[in-house]
Amino acid sequence: MTMNNVGRVTRIEGTGAVAETWTGNRGLMLEEPLLFEIGGDRSGVDLPDVPVVPDRLGDLARTAPIGLPGLSEPETVRHYTRLSRQNYGIDLGIFPLGSCTMKHNPRLNEKMARLPGFSDIHPLQPQATVQGALELIDRLAHWLLTLTGMPAVAMSPKAGAHGELCGMLAIRAALDARGDARRVVLVPESAHGTNPATAVFCGFTVENIPADARGRVDLAAMQARLGPDVAAVMITNPNTCGLFEPDLKTIADAVHAAGGFVYCDGANFNAIVGRVRPGDLGVDAMHINLHKTFSTPHGGGGPGSGPVVFSEALAPFAPLPFVRRTRDGFELVEEMQAQASTDHDRSFGRMVAFHGQMGMFVRALSYMMSHGADGLRQVAEDAVLNANYILASLKDLYSAPFADTGPCMHEALFSDDFLEGTGLTTLDLAKAMIDEGFHPMTMYFPLVVHGAMLVEPTETESKASLDQLIGALRSLAERMKADPEAFRTSPHLAPRRRLDETAAARKPVLGFRDAA
Ligand SMILES: *Cc1c(COP(=O)(O)O)cnc(C)c1O
Repeated sequence: MTMNNVGRVTRIEGTGAVAETWTGNRGLMLEEPLLFEIGGDRSGVDLPDVPVVPDRLGDLARTAPIGLPGLSEPETVRHYTRLSRQNYGIDLGIFPLGSCTMKHNPRLNEKMARLPGFSDIHPLQPQATVQGALELIDRLAHWLLTLTGMPAVAMSPKAGAHGELCGMLAIRAALDARGDARRVVLVPESAHGTNPATAVFCGFTVENIPADARGRVDLAAMQARLGPDVAAVMITNPNTCGLFEPDLKTIADAVHAAGGFVYCDGANFNAIVGRVRPGDLGVDAMHINLHKTFSTPHGGGGPGSGPVVFSEALAPFAPLPFVRRTRDGFELVEEMQAQASTDHDRSFGRMVAFHGQMGMFVRALSYMMSHGADGLRQVAEDAVLNANYILASLKDLYSAPFADTGPCMHEALFSDDFLEGTGLTTLDLAKAMIDEGFHPMTMYFPLVVHGAMLVEPTETESKASLDQLIGALRSLAERMKADPEAFRTSPHLAPRRRLDETAAARKPVLGFRDAA
């Protein structure tokens, strides 16, 4: 018995009597209650009787049943399979979330990451027994240094925001080493939200630099604010409007002249890989989201990997451990090398207990080697081409605030201006997309445009797939303007109607739901 709707006929809103069902199912989209609402007081396995043991707990011993759901094996399998079918993933369809780079994950990477020599090793194994893994980390580091044009890299950070923390801690250590008390970090409006959060976490004070009318950093405002109290600037490039910051080199030169450091948020490296080397732009530290640019399954909290490349000025402060080539192999350097070398001799410490995300390293290197240098360049070119195709195909119906300033990079940004007068919002459009069978785009981010809609198609979508999304979005824009009322309660066809997201966040139901 797994249906929670027995005997109650549910009409699917807006679809007429024909779509009434007794089960609550919609065709083969099966209704599924919580695990705690199904099953009874039984177990899927036969457990031996509990042995009689002396009571050492006294009053603390549990007397009432703990209330775990009791399901047989097929019921358990069906429960999770049904839930998995209600999920949307890149393997189901286009996943246009801006900034997140949800692209196809080649199965080759998965195959490589599952090789026992990579998946079954332990970080505390003697180094002589994991030479292949250390060599893989070293090779990946070499690719990252070559692609970015930077002299040093820290492999251990475990995600983009973790990489930012690593970079800013190195900047902090470099300032401390020269007895410099400057603590202001300048963050443009078009930066990713993690940037100011990271700076504050490292003890810096954040000041905003406005964006100009073209959605880029306001160069004059930036130059005017530089001074002896500015520790660093944090610039996202390409920025969160999906635009390249053409003044980055000019800004970097000015920051350096004023004694500060340049942190570049390189999470969106997929837009420029093989075309632009951040080292040529005067960057001192930059994280690269391996899970975005070099493709691994991510989202839902992980896993990620955010190596950070460093300039000569910051390299000595990079974290431990790091892999070094020796005469007859590779070694993991775990301690500061006070006399022996100039690199890492002033490391700020560790980001993680061990080496970083080995599984992600294998996937990223597999991706790089299967694409080759020319293929990686093509990745960036196709990602930018696809985003511009979306921008060009929608900008007559959707308001595209920066479309007149030239092409975008890997993502296309729209505002909600085109919905003016309908009473409908970006949220309504996103919900209507669900009825059309698409995961919504990123909404209300970046903050620099009203009701932002950020679409990142990625390079792995075909023209046919982009045309399908464009067709749906064009149709929605037209229908929403013609009959706004019909869209106020979207989605109508999904397993759930519009949820009260505030209540879901403030009053989560984490266990039994009242039968009533
Ligand atoms: C995704 C992203 C981040 C954060 O990366 P995580 O791996 O999610 O921590 C930071 N900056 C930008 C520009 C991003 O797109």
